[in-house]
Amino acid sequence: MSLANGRHYLAIPGPSVIPDPVLQAMHRPAPNIYTGELVELTHGLIPDLKTIAGTSGHVALYITNGHGLWEASLTNMISRGDKVLVCVTGNFGHGWADVAARLGANVEILDFGKQAPVDPARLEAALKADTAHEIKVVLATHVDTATSVRNDIASIRKAIDAAGHPAVFGVDSIASLGCDRFKMDAWGVDVMIAASQKGLMTPPGMGFVWFSEKARQEGMGNDLRTPYWDWETRAKPVHLYEYFDGTPPTHHLYGLRQAVTMILDEGLENVWARHETLARAYWAAIETWGQGGELRFNIADPAYRSHAVSTLSLGAGDGTRLRSWLTEHLGITLGISLGFGDIGSPEADGYFRIGHMGHINAHMVLGIIGAMETGFTALDIPHGEGGSVAAAKLLASRV
Ligand SMILES: *Cc1c(COP(=O)(O)O)cnc(C)c1O
Repeated sequence: MSLANGRHYLAIPGPSVIPDPVLQAMHRPAPNIYTGELVELTHGLIPDLKTIAGTSGHVALYITNGHGLWEASLTNMISRGDKVLVCVTGNFGHGWADVAARLGANVEILDFGKQAPVDPARLEAALKADTAHEIKVVLATHVDTATSVRNDIASIRKAIDAAGHPAVFGVDSIASLGCDRFKMDAWGVDVMIAASQKGLMTPPGMGFVWFSEKARQEGMGNDLRTPYWDWETRAKPVHLYEYFDGTPPTHHLYGLRQAVTMILDEGLENVWARHETLARAYWAAIETWGQGGELRFNIADPAYRSHAVSTLSLGAGDGTRLRSWLTEHLGITLGISLGFGDIGSPEADGYFRIGHMGHINAHMVLGIIGAMETGFTALDIPHGEGGSVAAAKLLASRV
């Protein structure tokens, strides 16, 4: 029997759950793009997007997904042949590095593996070795969505400063903005990217590049600037079409306005605390299950675990078995493994991910936890008893 009817729950690390008010805000006829409401709405988003990022710098808006943001940010930051140092902690770090290489950058990768955060001491040493200051840009991922590691961005900035290195510091916060604490200016980040479909709770299709005045000055005259990605006019538009170099993403803007209002009404501190508490409810269940079976956190140290996504391993093949069963029988879809072997291989099938970003609350998390326990039982996957009770206790202690 299938118990999957009713609202399906897509619990993957993006696209995330879209709130009903966001959907409703988008359900309208095409608006006037020359004057009126949409123009005011777009102007009004700019200060709020800066507040969410924690910056008084600039922001450029794009019609794009995260991959486009990698290119948008790089074409503004570097020229062909420039040296870029990429701190890699999973698939998404490799992704940004690959784009840099294909754009003609001289890419050096500092790989910290799939189960650990960036080690600031190693970065500091690499930067100190660059006595000629050839490295123009240092890149890091705040939360690598493949491994679910959460890097300590402030400590990476400290390493750059300790090396006395002038490189521009760019951070991919696509998986973490609106979920995990992020403070662009306080943490000394020069360039930051985030897309609409994760913590920002809006359908995929919009992306943002925040940049400091320092990054702007350093990037002037770069030879990779192309008309579409150039952040100069986008950050200082006079007319609405200049924000997007063409027709604006009309309905996305209405949705985003609603989502941003929801985040600011809840309060950033509360949004971050909610994500942390709900993540800890998952962690309590996972730890308990792991005591009687093979379920393991990919990131052992809670201090470096994302509050927006969890990557878990469950013995050969069982990750995919559990995922498929949950979709078919209980109406829940968890995330596939990424970067742990080829898709479809036994190694890859041993991993899966839970997305817990954006518009989620306690009963949604408890629903997934109960569903996972049901799946373990139905599929005879060994696990410790009492995961949902552990999560319930954690949540009860926090409200
Ligand atoms: C999702 C994600 C991306 C890629 O975004 P797409 O919209 O799928 O292109 C890049 N980096 C991180 C950290 C992500 O979580």
